[in-house]
Amino acid sequence: MRIILMGPPGAGKGTQAEKLAKELDIPHIATGDIFRKAVSEGTQLGKKAKSYMDAGQLVPDEVVIGIVEERLYKPDCQEGFILDGFPRTVPQAEALDGVLKDDPLSAAVYIDVEFDELVERLSGRRICRKCGKSYHIKFNPPQVRGVCDDDEGELYQRDDDNEETAKERLEVYMKNTKPLVEYYEERGILKRINGSQSPDDVFHDIVKEVREKL
Ligand SMILES: [Zn+2]
Repeated sequence: MRIILMGPPGAGKGTQAEKLAKELDIPHIATGDIFRKAVSEGTQLGKKAKSYMDAGQLVPDEVVIGIVEERLYKPDCQEGFILDGFPRTVPQAEALDGVLKDDPLSAAVYIDVEFDELVERLSGRRICRKCGKSYHIKFNPPQVRGVCDDDEGELYQRDDDNEETAKERLEVYMKNTKPLVEYYEERGILKRINGSQSPDDVFHDIVKEVREKL
């Protein structure tokens, strides 16, 4: 099963991707990770990517796609994969379709959560300075306000998570992702999941949708 997982910041995509990978016994490929790995291992494409990054430039699509392609041809992807963080644009989606050719994507899952709810989720996030554990002031509060349950570390808000920045991030995400969602909708493989439910219900719906494609 070849799956793409999409969802805005705050939609819980990472958690769902990991659970789904276990459930379907296929690898979860987070493109940020394979990118860092290619760069740190100094593969040919990794070196290329690094040269752009060092120069403060965007890594061109052909390099990005090359790195993803190398990963998808590894043996553990034979039964499928969950791709997370790629593609980000329609040209990248087209290139991916070209790479996959004979065995195309089975589903593009989009975890859909309303804008205002995402802002609330993101802006309520607090992180422990000591251990990095994350909390939410409303949905997952610590026992004592501002203090980590595990190690009494101070909880803080990441700059990215303050309300204005969160709104900006989400606006950028939505604007960039809309054409991509439409692209997969036109191809009949988009699975829109109601991400406002509990994480367990979201997971249940995703599994149901992708299993139907088997
Ligand atoms: Zn802590």
